[in-house]
Amino acid sequence: MKSTRLSIILPTYNERENLPIIIWLIFKYLKGCDLDFEVIIIEDGSPDGTLQVAQSMQDIYGADKIVLYDRGKKLGLGTAYKAGLSLANGDYIILMDADLSHHPKFIPKFFEKAKEGDYDIVTGTRYDGSGGVYGWDLKRKIISCGANTLTQIALGPSVTDLTGSFRLYKKSVLNKLMALAKSKGYAFQMEIIVLAEQSGYRIGEVPISFVDRVYGQSKMGVEEILRFLYGVVDLVVRY
Ligand code: UDP
Ligand code: MG
Repeated sequence: MKSTRLSIILPTYNERENLPIIIWLIFKYLKGCDLDFEVIIIEDGSPDGTLQVAQSMQDIYGADKIVLYDRGKKLGLGTAYKAGLSLANGDYIILMDADLSHHPKFIPKFFEKAKEGDYDIVTGTRYDGSGGVYGWDLKRKIISCGANTLTQIALGPSVTDLTGSFRLYKKSVLNKLMALAKSKGYAFQMEIIVLAEQSGYRIGEVPISFVDRVYGQSKMGVEEILRFLYGVVDLVVRY
């Protein structure tokens, strides 16, 4: 019997090509670990047939390992995390993207870090140590760097990457933080950290290399950027 139970929440929207690879990588890198894990796919009504791919993943790996929740329509990331959390059996939760930008090889490192400092949250950072970003064009790099610099100045948090979403949480901690967070879009990741610091939770960081998606399209657009800027102002006013 493995000692630590982990639920990996994987929201999908048009990830037909990426899903089999990310699942394969998760199994490859977690097989040798002392982790009893499940993958919870939250399908957002993808028109590209991701649902059928997810069903075949269940057939291959088993319904105990791959949990599938088909929401039927595009409801977005925030509610996907909530839905995933309500289904999770783990004591620990990994939130990650399904587009291969977040490599499962970092998950064991997140756990090493969590144990090392008894952290409640371990967050992947692209902006410290060996962390980095690969494959983004200059515009996207400027947006991400700008967003992080802006939030560092405005909110002064202790972590170096506020907008990344590849993180390990104790489930009880994530439940509490999700109940408090109000932001949507990229600002949500930032608010979770601000709230965690205010609540006195311990946060550790692990450098990650973030690789831009090869298949499919990012959700980042003008609307996301404007919503993020609104989110920063809103957080500064509220906290
Ligand atoms: N996603 C989702 N619903 C949406 C938009 C995105 O489930 O409405 C998923 C998507 O499939 C991916 C993750 O959320 O697994 C992050 O999305 P994306 O890669 O487009 O965002 P970015 O990396 O550009 O911030
Ligand atoms: Mg992505």
